[in-house]
Amino acid sequence: MSRVYNFSAGPAVLPEEVLREAADEMLDYKGSGMSVMEMSHRSKTYDNIIKEAEADLRDLMNIPDNYKVLFLQGGDSLIFASVPMNLMKNRKAGYILTGQWAKKAYQEAKIYGEAVELASSADKTFSYIPDCSDLPITDDMDYVYICENNTIYGTKFHTLPNTKGKDLVADLSSCFLSEPVDVTKYALIHAGVQKNVGPAGVQVVIIRDDLVTDDVLPGTPTMMKYKTHADNDSLYNTPPAYGIYICGKVFKWLKKNGGLSVMKELNEKKAKILYDFLDSSKLFKGTVVKEDRSLMNVPFVTGNEELDAKFVKEAKENGLESLKGHRTVGGMRASIYNAMPIEGVEKLVAFMKKFEEGNL
Ligand SMILES: *Cc1c(COP(=O)(O)O)cnc(C)c1O
Repeated sequence: MSRVYNFSAGPAVLPEEVLREAADEMLDYKGSGMSVMEMSHRSKTYDNIIKEAEADLRDLMNIPDNYKVLFLQGGDSLIFASVPMNLMKNRKAGYILTGQWAKKAYQEAKIYGEAVELASSADKTFSYIPDCSDLPITDDMDYVYICENNTIYGTKFHTLPNTKGKDLVADLSSCFLSEPVDVTKYALIHAGVQKNVGPAGVQVVIIRDDLVTDDVLPGTPTMMKYKTHADNDSLYNTPPAYGIYICGKVFKWLKKNGGLSVMKELNEKKAKILYDFLDSSKLFKGTVVKEDRSLMNVPFVTGNEELDAKFVKEAKENGLESLKGHRTVGGMRASIYNAMPIEGVEKLVAFMKKFEEGNL
């Protein structure tokens, strides 16, 4: 067996230790005589799995008691709809457009009400985070929406926008659990776990409990109401049971490794290796303004499409996988999530140096 260094943006690398544990438990989970995949979600054994996962996540993120934690399905793309359905009481909300996911959330919200573009970085291919200190937020807006880490473009809000007292809703998919966050600054956090935490098919929603009500837009399906899931501890219907089990293992792995502040230090160290090289390279360059760089997704280019393609191909031959940039952006992108070991980043930079020498 040989494992590659996987720089995929998502689904993405998971801790090897977690995968091994899951493999060990595949046929017989803790003496139950069955796989977690085969187990009733109403069983005592599974109830322990989902309760422990929630408790560990609460512990890791220091989630206050007045926030609900939901494990949902349907992708972030469905959350783009459930957010306005549940929160757009006045049918008006502000969106900050920092990339494709923010734009998709904004377009989806337009189906339900007036989604207002508060700021955008589309003028420079989303290579920066716009100034959000004094946005045209009006009193009748129900919330302000951001995509905190822009997976495709490699930017991150290092300072949250001034929402002028309005509730902040944020898509944290690609930076979820990469560093500590102050949950109280958000009304709602959502994250697809397939970026930094687990297998595709699970969305975590962390929502302040005063927003969990029956007062939703007319026509909202039962399954799209956050209250449905909150009232039933994410067991209203069959949850993505196996995915939640793997997430639970990753939460434990994070706790064992020191939690989110230690993770942040490690992520900063890894990103610095790559950014320092990009800043000194004669061939490669980063595409994002320095102060808005993401610790998780690092896009870069050579400036020559053929050379980019050659790089991606030769990197793959050297065990460095999935470095091709997003299909809408081109170039390269290295996603260096929590589970990417520092040696992976060192190997990547060593290979980039070698490639640079051979291709200048
Ligand atoms: C991947 C991603 C999404 C899309 O998630 P789906 O689960 O495929 O719908 C949304 N937002 C961000 C920030 C992402 O990285």
